[in-house]
Amino acid sequence: MIIQFEQGIDEQQKSAIINRVKGLKYKPTEVTTQKGDYLIGTGKKDFDIRTIGYMDGIKDIHIVSDDYKLVSRKWKVKPTEIDLGDGVVIQEGGFQIMAGPCSIEGEDQIRKTIAHLKANGITIMRGGVYKPRSSPYSFRGLGIDGLKIWYELAKEAGIKIITEVMQVSQIAEMDPYVDIYQVGARNTQNFNLLDELGKNTDKPVMIKRGISGTIDELLSSAEYVFSGGNERLLLCERGIRTYEKATRNTMDLNAIPVLKEKTHLPVIADPSHGIGIRHLVEPIALASIMAGADGVIYETHEIPEEAFSDGQQTLNYPESDKMIDRLRKTFELRESF
Ligand code: PEP
Ligand code: MN
Repeated sequence: MIIQFEQGIDEQQKSAIINRVKGLKYKPTEVTTQKGDYLIGTGKKDFDIRTIGYMDGIKDIHIVSDDYKLVSRKWKVKPTEIDLGDGVVIQEGGFQIMAGPCSIEGEDQIRKTIAHLKANGITIMRGGVYKPRSSPYSFRGLGIDGLKIWYELAKEAGIKIITEVMQVSQIAEMDPYVDIYQVGARNTQNFNLLDELGKNTDKPVMIKRGISGTIDELLSSAEYVFSGGNERLLLCERGIRTYEKATRNTMDLNAIPVLKEKTHLPVIADPSHGIGIRHLVEPIALASIMAGADGVIYETHEIPEEAFSDGQQTLNYPESDKMIDRLRKTFELRESF
């Protein structure tokens, strides 16, 4: 069950509610986020909602039987909106485009990417400064110094930053320079990291689906962050590992409408990692719009062949220009339904 406490509930009212929940053999967990105060009850026994619902201090009570609760669509009528300020919002019914290189490589590359995004009216730039690489000998990112340079240039241009955080110790130093944290596919079940992103930042967090993760596991990962205290969350389908070898991953387009049904959080598609083959990124990106995604994130670089990472799935600027145009046309088509 989810109990939403009324604003200004007093301690006596709270403990009366908690005792009633315990009396039903439900385990109570208190959650406080930027937006509200909740009590999560986990248990099995059937109960009549009216035996609690009338109590003082309760704004609303819902029965949510899924393992994940706060991220479930079952209790939240209004889908979550991620407002990044300056009119940049990610929300159901809209379609946000986030683009940029796999890795941030230096000032010149940042400037060129920003110019490409601005020419296309895109306001969110992706890029990694901490890169999870399968080989320890591959380029592992410019780190915090790269992020600081990026931040200055992005701020000047009115561009927001989404970038991956790999470990707990990076959160404090990254926080002033990040608009959205990305949790990568290799870290989706790093529960310490998720806990800390719940407790120690108010910045939005986009959680990618684990390489071999199920949809429910992705939702449970989001529940970690929410129950830690941060409800500014987005989910990202980026392909999963299957027996198929023709593509880097298997983009699970099914996950998009399934997630939209299960959760109130925005759902983003990453066709670059989803298929991993440059000239096939566009059809998957377009398909993800029709599947109901609230946005797309993809990799672009002036010269993909020279990119420090993931060049094989990275669009050059003319390819990116063309795809942006088609994304917008496809979104208009979806809107017209
Ligand atoms: C990335 O976005 O460049 C990345 C490493 O993604 P993923 O975690 O999905 O592999
Ligand atoms: Mn990449």
